[in-house]
Amino acid sequence: RPLADLAASLVQDVPDFPEPGVVFKDITPLLADGAALKAVVEDMASRAPGPIDLVVGMEARGFILGAPVAVALGAGFIPVRKAGKLPRETLAGAYELEYGSAVLEVHPDTIRDGSRVLVVDDVLATGGTAAATVALLEKAGGVVVGLSFLMELTFLGGRDRLPGRPLDVLLSY
Ligand code: IMP
Repeated sequence: RPLADLAASLVQDVPDFPEPGVVFKDITPLLADGAALKAVVEDMASRAPGPIDLVVGMEARGFILGAPVAVALGAGFIPVRKAGKLPRETLAGAYELEYGSAVLEVHPDTIRDGSRVLVVDDVLATGGTAAATVALLEKAGGVVVGLSFLMELTFLGGRDRLPGRPLDVLLSY
């Protein structure tokens, strides 16, 4: 797809970030390109599986892409945040990191039972963040109808942690 070529040309590889041996995919050049950002957001919105009530974005780059996708769909936006950031009563879910674990939180009263939810993030890596987010949203009463990522790092096998979930990905590495 021409859009994939454009997006790929605006993602920069950063070796040894955030630690030695990791090649970080930096999307800030893409975000800074108005035409590319608009095209990526419109593509994500147009490929949503059926009607969407809520778009969920994971802190922090999931906010940047998720909110405009929500606006494009006429859906609401729900932030899933790292522990301790949301001010009201939260539902929390822990997930494993390479070393230790982390906790994600959501305000459950912003999710109506049976809402059709689309999860949006920039990168699907090991899938830990996405799998924990799906579990959290379903515990809160949402129905996760799909997940959309700007890119997938296929060699990390994140897709295997989201069995049976409709996944949309613009770029695969
Ligand atoms: P996972 O939980 O291992 O799938 O990691 C996904 C989360 O880490 C996402 O929220 C991404 O924003 C972030 N992430 C992991 N690798 C990269 C990268 O190379 N570039 C940008 N974000 C990344």
